Amino acid sequence: MSAEAMSTSPDTQVIHSGRQIDPATGAITAPIHLSTTFERGADGSYPQGYIYGRSGNPNRDALETALTTLEQGCATATFASGSAATFSLLQTLGPADHVIAPQSVYFGVQQMLSQIFAPWGLSYTLVDTTDLTAVAETLRPNTRLVLIETPSNPQLAVTDIRAIAALTHQANAYLACDNTIASPVLQTPLTLGADFAIHATTKYLAGHGDVIGGAVVTRVPNPLFDQLRLIQTIGGTVPSPFDCWLTLRGLQTLPLRVRAQAQVAQAIATWLTEHPAIERVLYPGLPDHPGHSVAQGQMQGYGGLLSFLVKGDQATAMGVAAKTRLIARATSFGSPHSTIEHRASIEKGTQTAPNLLRLSIGLEHKDDLIADLEQALER
Ligand SMILES: *Cc1c(COP(=O)(O)O)cnc(C)c1O
Repeated sequence: MSAEAMSTSPDTQVIHSGRQIDPATGAITAPIHLSTTFERGADGSYPQGYIYGRSGNPNRDALETALTTLEQGCATATFASGSAATFSLLQTLGPADHVIAPQSVYFGVQQMLSQIFAPWGLSYTLVDTTDLTAVAETLRPNTRLVLIETPSNPQLAVTDIRAIAALTHQANAYLACDNTIASPVLQTPLTLGADFAIHATTKYLAGHGDVIGGAVVTRVPNPLFDQLRLIQTIGGTVPSPFDCWLTLRGLQTLPLRVRAQAQVAQAIATWLTEHPAIERVLYPGLPDHPGHSVAQGQMQGYGGLLSFLVKGDQATAMGVAAKTRLIARATSFGSPHSTIEHRASIEKGTQTAPNLLRLSIGLEHKDDLIADLEQALER
């Protein structure tokens, strides 16, 4: 039995999938293959299957294999960023097609739809994807792709993946689920009916705040994924060998990190709900969160990201973020270092409340993070 076939749990898969002991040297950890080109056989063939670094590279193959295994799909295309992954998936569509995306879609995706794809002819509708009736009413005969993000950023809204998959497939469209916030440890959209899982590997998968990357995993072979592979290798927005190596290294601790971060997030979310300076906490693990029961039915834990509304206005919220000491004021999430961010001031024109702060739980001790928040929330 191969090591791949023996890896049934994500904990084992992250150590073994896409990895083999280097046959040339016996190295347990794979080398980084920087070579841009690969030698042809005397007969003109490519004996190892590699031709040129843009079309394929051993480190990229290793990462794609591991992500395919974790998401329980059949193939993965990796990209130089999470944005490039979504951008490339949208590029597989034609100008006559229609796309549905969440009202609260990742800000960068909203920008690419409005500023790049709409002028090119692709039509799209932003809808509250937690409202199944609204999604059903938005589907058109030319809707080719429905894009969801669950939990969403920064509202942590939960979309019912199984229900949306059924609606989408009835309409002969594809469903893509951005799984960045949950990670495949807590949620596997392809097993719930989604056709594609999208990742900003920049966040939890690489997990150390030191590499930007993205991926699209497909459940089964299909024409969109064939086109995506073409866009990846001909368009060339590929991750470097070192990017792939770093991401694969970070992936080894993904289950340990994500479960620990989710546990601390749950404790901090609960602590914040009882704090007098807090108006509301948005975290799918809280029983009063509107998406809690759907999340319970499709997630194995609620993740390391939460948002909270402080009592007051934008200045009050900025004032809290200004006072944290351990928690860094920075965008992004999924790093060992906890970060806090005032979202409304960077995503101008969205519905994000001016008193909302998003908190990404890192790997610091829970008590130290609570002490930091306690002193930052003091008036
Ligand atoms: C960060 C993020 C992206 C974009 O990823 P980049 O690597 O920054 O381009 C897309 N979707 C979600 C949900 C994200 O959090």
